[in-house]
Amino acid sequence: MMRVVLGGPELAGLTIAEPAASVRLLVAWPSEPFEMPTWNGNEFLLTDGRRPALRTFTPAVLADDELTLDIVRHRGGAVSDWVETAVPGEPCAVSGPGRGEVLDPEADRYVLLGDETAIPAIEQLLGVIADDTEVEVHVEIVDNHAHLDLPTHPSATVTWHVAAAGNPPGSTLRRAVEEIAIDEATRVWAAGEAAAVQSIRKHLFDERGTPRSHTTIRGYWKVAR
Ligand SMILES: Cc1cc2nc3c(=O)[nH]c(=O)nc-3n(C[C@H](O)[C@H](O)[C@H](O)COP(=O)(O)OP(=O)(O)OC[C@H]3O[C@@H](n4cnc5c(N)ncnc54)[C@H](O)[C@@H]3O)c2cc1C
Repeated sequence: MMRVVLGGPELAGLTIAEPAASVRLLVAWPSEPFEMPTWNGNEFLLTDGRRPALRTFTPAVLADDELTLDIVRHRGGAVSDWVETAVPGEPCAVSGPGRGEVLDPEADRYVLLGDETAIPAIEQLLGVIADDTEVEVHVEIVDNHAHLDLPTHPSATVTWHVAAAGNPPGSTLRRAVEEIAIDEATRVWAAGEAAAVQSIRKHLFDERGTPRSHTTIRGYWKVAR
């Protein structure tokens, strides 16, 4: 994980009202200068008609015209590669915010499931879920070096799962969800690799009968996309 702090007066006016919201980060493609794309009413495009390098991240902290993002480092990603070489002053752009999570006042228990890309969102959810609401957190990490300290919550239990080499991403979360007790007052929030969270969604809806309104399940990235 790389912490990146974006700054500039252009951030004035950006407000993030909800936990686990999103922003889109636009950076230069490798070996190209940064170009501010234009919005054609449907998508952002560069002057030559190509799409810019634009990816979605969780706004970790927004204060004093500075926006902090926590970005997972992996091989061969436009933004992941950019953060390895970006130097202070590197131009980039931010679009957003996108919607976040609205807590359900009827819930007396939350289950939070996610891989490393979901850690910033899980941190924020732990920060806003009431102290007397039970929280069960499961996080999949690629190895023990990716273990981070999450905010302390008096009613939370946190389980870290280290992914086994060769298994599809999210496999440990998919297995963990089968063992989790889910009742009427439980709300489930899950985010991570698209196929993994799709499988979690299917398990909850088809095998457990969990109402859709009791879940937020979001694909944050997709293998080979
Ligand atoms: C609402 C939302 C919030 C998000 N918040 C965060 C956040 O706070 N921090 C964060 O790091 N990510 C977050 N993500 C996920 C992030 O947008 C994706 O991981 C994105 O693909 C990264 O862009 P990239 O340019 O590095 O890789 P890309 O150019 O998009 O992908 C290149 C290759 O890398 C693979 N890849 C992409 N992401 C990963 C990964 N995490 N691990 C391994 N392989 C990967 C792809 O499958 C593809 O093969 C969020 C996504 C959403 C939708």
